[in-house]
Amino acid sequence: MDRSSMNAPRQSCPDCVRKHLAQACALCQEALQGYPEHRWLAIGHLAEAEAEIEGMSPALAERFRNERKALEEDQTYQPPFVALIAEVTSLNGVTACACQQREDIVDRVATVFLMGCR
Ligand SMILES: [Zn+2]
Repeated sequence: MDRSSMNAPRQSCPDCVRKHLAQACALCQEALQGYPEHRWLAIGHLAEAEAEIEGMSPALAERFRNERKALEEDQTYQPPFVALIAEVTSLNGVTACACQQREDIVDRVATVFLMGCR
């Protein structure tokens, strides 16, 4: 099935993809340290990374998908998260995180709003 026809890729943000990968990495390690349900949270973050990288690199999205499937099938599997993060970093055309800019704007608006309440 053509996955692109199911849902158009969302706006890709390399920083957010790397954040999802880092979160998945931490959750995977927690899963092995007595919190097995955290593996599913890691799987969810990998799925988010996969959806978000699709617009920048369908090949990398496929790679994330394979890692996610491996993690789903083997409770002890540890995806090579640092290598995956490095691959995102090495993509051409990687720019600053637009999401962060939005967060900065939200922070500024919140600051102005709170100052107005004092
Ligand atoms: Zn972002």
